[in-house]
Amino acid sequence: MIYRSFAGTNDSLSVIGFGASPLGNVFGETSRSMDDALVAHALACGINFFDVSPYYGLGLAEERLGAALAHRRQEAFLATKCGRYGADNFDFSAATIVRRLEESLQRLQTDYVDLLQAHDIEFGNMDQILHETLPALAALKKQGKCRYIGITGFWPGLLSRVADDFQLDAVLNYCHANLFVNDMDRELIPLCSQRGIAAINASPLHMGLLGDGPVADWHPAPAIVREKAAEVVALCRRHGVPPGTLAVWKCLQHPTIVSTLVGLSNIAQIDTTCRALEFQPSPELLSAVEAILAPVLNMRWPQGRIENQDASFLETPAEVNA
Ligand code: NAD
Repeated sequence: MIYRSFAGTNDSLSVIGFGASPLGNVFGETSRSMDDALVAHALACGINFFDVSPYYGLGLAEERLGAALAHRRQEAFLATKCGRYGADNFDFSAATIVRRLEESLQRLQTDYVDLLQAHDIEFGNMDQILHETLPALAALKKQGKCRYIGITGFWPGLLSRVADDFQLDAVLNYCHANLFVNDMDRELIPLCSQRGIAAINASPLHMGLLGDGPVADWHPAPAIVREKAAEVVALCRRHGVPPGTLAVWKCLQHPTIVSTLVGLSNIAQIDTTCRALEFQPSPELLSAVEAILAPVLNMRWPQGRIENQDASFLETPAEVNA
């Protein structure tokens, strides 16, 4: 495993992080009886960064991760979130965040988390996020309920603006630094480097499009993106390369992203994910994959309040209807 410093601190995060949304069954049913073995295997592979949310399975993912980490809490850098509690259930008020964090801590069987993040801020009112939510997170940090604070979301432009206005330790952006979309580098990563903020990447498989299971029925990507992803999966298989390995390898090439979170459902996925650390794709495979994805490169989809969506997206309406 390779480790990188978290926001210039003495905390070192594994460059591959364990995304625990599958423990909330968000991509389909996963085996609860395997949780201990799954987490033990991840730790044995050197993965020390675990990310979850009360949203994933409405508390189920936190409960399962908490049980599996119960005796190994000190080995983990544990992140959870606040503000999103259901597909359409958002509450970024200070009172709710304080109350809901207590519930998260109970489920996680711990009295603090390493990182507390405002979850999917594009669904919130930015005035409230800046003047109520983030100050509440900073107060929780002072009280020792969390060691670091951050924000997560889909739009790198929005995340940059908020990170520019409020002192944060980490920013998590998903589906914007992988084989499909590469605009996390446009302004967010430079800002993070400048400010000493940990940049966290999530969804290297574009939320399962390059995974080994069926694509989730809620997947928001335009049909053309899903079709091209299926072509990439078929091509990789012909080359004897697990698509998940290639997808994670691509993310690991980034020089400053602290960690890439992969949604891990079983032990085989941990192994094919970690293979990315030593993997080198043939130039032929890489250029064939890039050629398949070229027509859909940087194609995004509507997410969150319209006023929070990045201007670069709103200015290309064809994308919305793709
Ligand atoms: P992902 O791209 O990591 O895809 C996960 C899916 O791919 C799952 O169905 C899994 O079974 C499958 N998979 C994973 N590794 C595989 C492998 N090696 N081979 C084959 N299939 C594999 O998407 P994700 O789960 O959305 O993102 C990872 C994590 O990032 C999440 O679990 C979560 O912790 C975090 N995340 C956070 C936010 C947010 O805060 N807004 C959004 C997205 C993701």
